[in-house]
Order: sequence, then structure tokens, then C-alpha cells
Amino acid sequence: MDDVRRLIPRTDALLADERFVAAASRVGRERVKAAIGAAQEAARAGRIAPGDVAETALAGLAHVGGRAVLNATGVILHTNLGRAPLSAEARRAVAEAAGCTDVELDLATGRRGARGRDAMAALAAKVPDAGGVHVVNNNAAALVLAATALAAGREIVIARGELVEIGAGFRLPELLESTGARLREVGTTNRTTVRDYASVLGPETGFVLKVHPSNYRVVGFTSEAAPRELAALCREADVPFVGDIGSGLLAPDRVLPDEPDAATWLRAGADLVTASGDKLLGGPQCGLLLGRADLVERLRRHPLARALRVDKLTLAALEASLLFPTPTAESLHADPSVLRARAESLAAALRADGLDAHACDSVAVVGGGGAPGVDLPSAAVSLPASYAAPLRTGTPAVLARLDNDRCLLDLRALPPTHDPNLLKAIRQCT
Ligand SMILES: *Cc1c(COP(=O)(O)O)cnc(C)c1O
Repeated sequence: MDDVRRLIPRTDALLADERFVAAASRVGRERVKAAIGAAQEAARAGRIAPGDVAETALAGLAHVGGRAVLNATGVILHTNLGRAPLSAEARRAVAEAAGCTDVELDLATGRRGARGRDAMAALAAKVPDAGGVHVVNNNAAALVLAATALAAGREIVIARGELVEIGAGFRLPELLESTGARLREVGTTNRTTVRDYASVLGPETGFVLKVHPSNYRVVGFTSEAAPRELAALCREADVPFVGDIGSGLLAPDRVLPDEPDAATWLRAGADLVTASGDKLLGGPQCGLLLGRADLVERLRRHPLARALRVDKLTLAALEASLLFPTPTAESLHADPSVLRARAESLAAALRADGLDAHACDSVAVVGGGGAPGVDLPSAAVSLPASYAAPLRTGTPAVLARLDNDRCLLDLRALPPTHDPNLLKAIRQCT
């Protein structure tokens, strides 16, 4: 241990290094010292080699706002990696929007314009079945807004099999109740019929909510009320029918036949559909509210809407993600034989360097609490397990998947443009 400590470069020696002198002129000496201290601590704790202290500290200084990670997990929407990655077009739009923009100005007249009108128009064009569209911070915010505006002090009718925990300990029932609405649970965990809903509708009903069980499946002796049946029931009772589809598919996708989409639920008669922007839609974190024009307008004008409103960066990223292909869609639709060819070519290049690398078949998933139980055929580069840790702490960082005694680099969630970066990152580990 003491030997290791002696090998750790000293702070004054590093501060005199021209790379750190340059960094200090950019970000200040205090931040440079803090980054060096953190890297030295990592070396003392054995997390990095003493010889990597300088590189680690420099990498820490180069990455304000999070370090870039190559997602080689085979999980397309990785929650811990920030769900959907943005396309190059969306990143450019965010960079452009970071300055002053016409987000709330009509340049033609010089007057105030509707906030984010281009993003809203792009969304409306993608979901022609929605009379109105609105965007808030995330799907949880969309549900809170709907519950507050339509059901505070009254009841939200929901099936017992759809009382979802969405992750990190957040439970939809508690979220909804935090608005002052009461939950009126119907049916059982595995079976709920439209009659169960019909028997509780009345003057206390704020709306009926159907939640897509996006991160689990109820199998076996099950039944649930279809959106079309619930829509008909709600129309008759004159209460809104709200559907939380979760994943944000705007239209059906052949790869995920069981995943609900906004167009289908709206056509089935849902008055309001809520969804996330950073799941299968492939955009920035946000929550979509799509549906009947009068309801959406009511939500948009509710005082709480201001507290949930999205910033101009989100609007820019959303608009671009609606107009251009997203990395999420490309990963979802990638041809397994093309993935295999990429894996073969990467493995061959690594073998030529003398590495124990080979291509293998793999299984990817949607992740991010979407399409549970759906396996997507994929391909991976297989390396010895000892590569996983140095890949994770390298630059760029690479997150792999461990499978028995191998480190698998699954290519489905990794855009092909990153293959050279992946090769570079692996070579740095040798
Ligand atoms: C993911 C999910 C949510 C939460 O969405 P956020 O955008 O993370 O707030 C809510 N409901 C369902 C069904 C989901 O899948």
C-alpha cells in the first residue's frame, strides 16, 4: 500500500505540468487542485492506477456537466445513462437555443409569440389525432397537472393492476394523491373488467386513468379493460378518460407490437394521453399531453402549468427529435446482421492487436422501463471480464455488460459512428 502511495504524483508536480497550467487558466486553480485531489484519492483507494492520476484529473476537468459514456450495455434506454441520447441535429438545436432565441417572439411582427410554437407544431403534426398538445417537464409532471386540474378533491378511478412504481422509489399512486385527488381503485391485481369501472363512476369522479404497465407484466389468469371500452364508458358517463402510455411511441412500431402508442389510444377515444419524451420518442426529458383541445387548453392555462413548463433547450431538442431520426429509433430498428458485421469487424481489428476478442450473438432490451420481456436480437464484441472496470473509467468511458466471465460490448444501443471511439477506448486498456 505504501508503495502505491509513493507512486502517486504530488500536487505541486502536477500543478507545474503544462497541461494543468493551461487548464488552470481556463477553469481556475482551485478547480484544478480539486480535480487533482479527487484523482489522487481514487488512486489511494485503489480505484485507479497511480500512473493514471494525471489523465483522470484532466478528464475530470474536461467534462463539465457529466462525462460522455459509450453505451455498450445493449439497453437502448439506460436510466443511469440519462435514457434517450439526442441526435446530432437535436444537439445542434440545443446549442443554438442556448443563446437568445425567438422562443416567445414573432420576429415577423416584433410582437410576443406563443412559447415554443415550432416545437408544438411539430408535435401536433406527428399526432394528427390530438386536437391539442402541451409539453411539461416529464410524464410525472403531466400526470400531476392532469390530476390537479381535473380531479383535485375528487376521485381518479384506476385499476389495481396498474398502481405502478416507476423507479427510484416513485409510486404513481402517491404522486397522484399528492395533488389532493383520491384514488378509487377497481378490480383485482390480475383482473379488472369494464364493469368494475362502471360500478364506481359518479359525481365524485374526476377522471378514469389507464396506466400502461411499462416496467412489468401481469401474465396468467388476467384481464383488463381495453381503451376503446373505457372510452365508450367514460363518454356515456361524461367523465374524461386519461391514458398514461409511458413510453412515448406516437404511432405503432412493428418491432414492439404490444407497446401502446398515442395515435391508437386517441383513436380509441382517449380524451387525454400522457407520455415521456425521453423514452421511445428518443427526445429530451419532457412530458407530453395530447388530446381533446378543450382539456389540453384547460391544463395549459392552469396556474400549476407555469411551474411545470419546459425551458427553451428542451423545446429545441424536442422539435429536432420529432423532425429527424433519433438514435433511439435507429437502435430499435437496427438489423441484427449489420450489428453482427460490425462486431466481426471490431473483433478482427482487436485480434490483429493480439487481444482475446471475438464477435458473438447477444440479446438487447429496450430498457428505461419500456417493453418488459421483449428481447431484441443483437451482436457484441466479447472481451475478458477484466476489461470492464478500465473501460468504465477510461476516456471515453464505456459501459459494458458482464456475462459469466466475459465482458460483452453490445452494439445495438451504440450508434455505428462510435465504433472508432470504442476501438480507441479498448486499445487504451491494454
Ligand atoms: C416512465 C413512466 C412514467 C414516468 O415518466 P417520467 O417521464 O420519468 O416522469 C410514468 N408512467 C409510465 C407508465 C411510465 O412508463
